[in-house]
Amino acid sequence: MSLRFNAISELHTYNTDVGKITPKITEVFGSHVFNLATARKFLSDEAFKSLKASINAGQKIDRNVANQIATGMRAWAETKGVTHYTHWFQPLTGTTAEKHDSFFTLKGDGTPIEEFDSGALIQQEPDASSFPNGGLRATFEARGYTAWDPSSPPFIVEIGYGRTLCIPTIFIAYTGESLDYKAPLLKSIDVLNKAAVDVCNYFDRNVQKVTATLGWEQEYFVVDEGLFNARPDLVMTGRTVYGHNSAKNQQLEDHYFGAIPERVYAFMRDFENECYKLGIPLRTRHNEVAPAQFECAPIYEEINLAVDHNTLLMDTMSRIAPRHGLKVLFHEKPFAGINGSGKHNNWSLATDTGINLLAPGKTPKTNLMFLTFFVNTIKAVHDYADILRASIASAPNDHRLGANEAPPAIISVFIGKYLSQVLEEVKERVSKKMDEQDESMLKLDIHKTIPELFMDNTDRNRTSPFAFTGNKFEFRAVGSTANCANPMTVLNTIMAQTLKQFKKEVDALIEKGEKKEIAIMQVIREYIVASEKVHFEGDGYSEAWEKEAEKRGLPNLKTTPLALDAMVTDKNKKLFIDNGIYSLSELEARHEIELEKYIKKVQIEGRIMGEMATSLILPPAIRYQTLLSQNIRGLKEAGVSEEAYANQKQILDKISEHINKASDLVEQMIEARKICNAIEDTRTKAIAYESQVKAQFFDQIRYHVDKLELLVDDREWYLPKYRELLFMR
Ligand code: ADP
Ligand code: MG
Repeated sequence: MSLRFNAISELHTYNTDVGKITPKITEVFGSHVFNLATARKFLSDEAFKSLKASINAGQKIDRNVANQIATGMRAWAETKGVTHYTHWFQPLTGTTAEKHDSFFTLKGDGTPIEEFDSGALIQQEPDASSFPNGGLRATFEARGYTAWDPSSPPFIVEIGYGRTLCIPTIFIAYTGESLDYKAPLLKSIDVLNKAAVDVCNYFDRNVQKVTATLGWEQEYFVVDEGLFNARPDLVMTGRTVYGHNSAKNQQLEDHYFGAIPERVYAFMRDFENECYKLGIPLRTRHNEVAPAQFECAPIYEEINLAVDHNTLLMDTMSRIAPRHGLKVLFHEKPFAGINGSGKHNNWSLATDTGINLLAPGKTPKTNLMFLTFFVNTIKAVHDYADILRASIASAPNDHRLGANEAPPAIISVFIGKYLSQVLEEVKERVSKKMDEQDESMLKLDIHKTIPELFMDNTDRNRTSPFAFTGNKFEFRAVGSTANCANPMTVLNTIMAQTLKQFKKEVDALIEKGEKKEIAIMQVIREYIVASEKVHFEGDGYSEAWEKEAEKRGLPNLKTTPLALDAMVTDKNKKLFIDNGIYSLSELEARHEIELEKYIKKVQIEGRIMGEMATSLILPPAIRYQTLLSQNIRGLKEAGVSEEAYANQKQILDKISEHINKASDLVEQMIEARKICNAIEDTRTKAIAYESQVKAQFFDQIRYHVDKLELLVDDREWYLPKYRELLFMR
């Protein structure tokens, strides 16, 4: 029996385990995390104070104290049955990395002991040569190290029998360049904090710290593991490169927000429970639009933690799914013809005085502060739309952006009816000759308009890549596999840059003798006018918008190789270098790494398409072709009239045509890949892979293969079909 039918026949045997009651969440929440409450119990006063100061104010921990912290951490971990530790980091591969060492070691005289000291806590040296480095380190000096990031707490991961203490770290080359997603993110958090505090202080002297917050929404598909294993394309690339639409798709809209299927529900309960132990504050779960598609979302957190928690969630889900005979797909477009998956990044700014800077205020004065941050965000997106676009560019996200169910590749901002009105009003009423009375009248009017926002719940444009949703901006173009760190680093940085510029301009006006609040309003007005073209309230999926955007001069880069150019323009180099996020060599290396990732992904897809066509698609098709021709020959020999085998002949003609076309195209694609592979320059090669391999062949080959799927005897077809992958579990 083929893998496909084997998997189908086993589907009914799965024990869904829904009877298992998971404990009350508050009882397990954070039990596997070395958070401050736990640290308090295992550390001396001195060590605890030092750790706390490091978390809250980024203060350095001295070696001696670090030793005490390490000892306390081990003592805690051992109460949980932990035997090994690892530095946990997020290299530019897009997955997480770890290398386990045991606490166990031998002393000089051979005595076995358990040990974990400051050296092991603070620094590790994974063999860095096999991580992407974009030419930053030649392999002969392949030395990088991971360094403890105290701002994200250590946690324990249970895999089978083993329990491992994971220390969140950043990954750096010995020459100082960062090699991961986290180090730049931490820098951007810091830069944004400083710039935002400065602007906050116009309104409130008490603000000393501004924290960027992130609440992600993770979309994913769940398929049966047996069916998954019978699809080499899913195994190799995470998406189906072939597969005809099933008769039923998502057109009945009966899946969205419907009852969660039992087997998936058991899986959710299981991974949620693991996540709670890890301190991931999951809150929401539901079915998504496409069949077999789901979403989960946590309560938002400080960005650094939220990023760690999202990568940890994806790891945990992938790890737990097989317990239920399932596989989870994070790919942006696992199935053609139905919705893909994204990861909305809800982003805001919170002060240490407890104010959400992107939530409308309670008084005219706090509303002016809100308006300041609100308008600065729009200005930042306007000025740096290209680098924001680049931050979410990837081979899999190209399948999704602009595909009529996801935001277009054009970056625009949606803010809703009332705030549009507020901006119009500011634009009209703020003038050079404004006096204090005009100013306070306007402030009051704005204040009166803004409360309407709260009644404005229906005003939610789902088609915008960057939408204001009441108390936060939602960056919706982020792909479901993405590490949020990259788009968040960019968003933080462009916001910091814009706020710094804003302050400069306001200060200049104040120096000229303008009253502070009038100066602020004038610069706000200037920013509203300057960023008008990025503001769009209409249907982002429409063709009309593509045309309109072009007229406005907004970029619409649909492919990753070209979108990535924004990483190395003079303007963006200056942005990152001035703000201390990336050095020139780091930027160039990252650009190179992203291009290489793109090339490799398209290359792998091309290979698997060729391989599957030749060894899985054509054999049953040819067998069926033979059967038909034998049948026709037999009928002919029996002397029946031509009519008796006319239909068989028609089918045979069609099958033969699709076999020939698919086979020819696969050969041509192999030749095209060879030409691309010979190209030296990475950017040129990536563009060639996009235009000469992907665009030229993928859809065409698929067309013929999918036609064969409909023609060939179902019992002979090896690959699980869409109806099975999407509807059977
Ligand atoms: P949606 O309708 O888009 O699903 P939700 O209200 O469910 O919106 O919120 C989605 C996400 O936004 C959640 O993860 C939530 O924690 C997050 N969120 C809410 N407030 C903020 C904030 N101030 N900063 C960052 N994220 C936030
Ligand atoms: Mg959302």
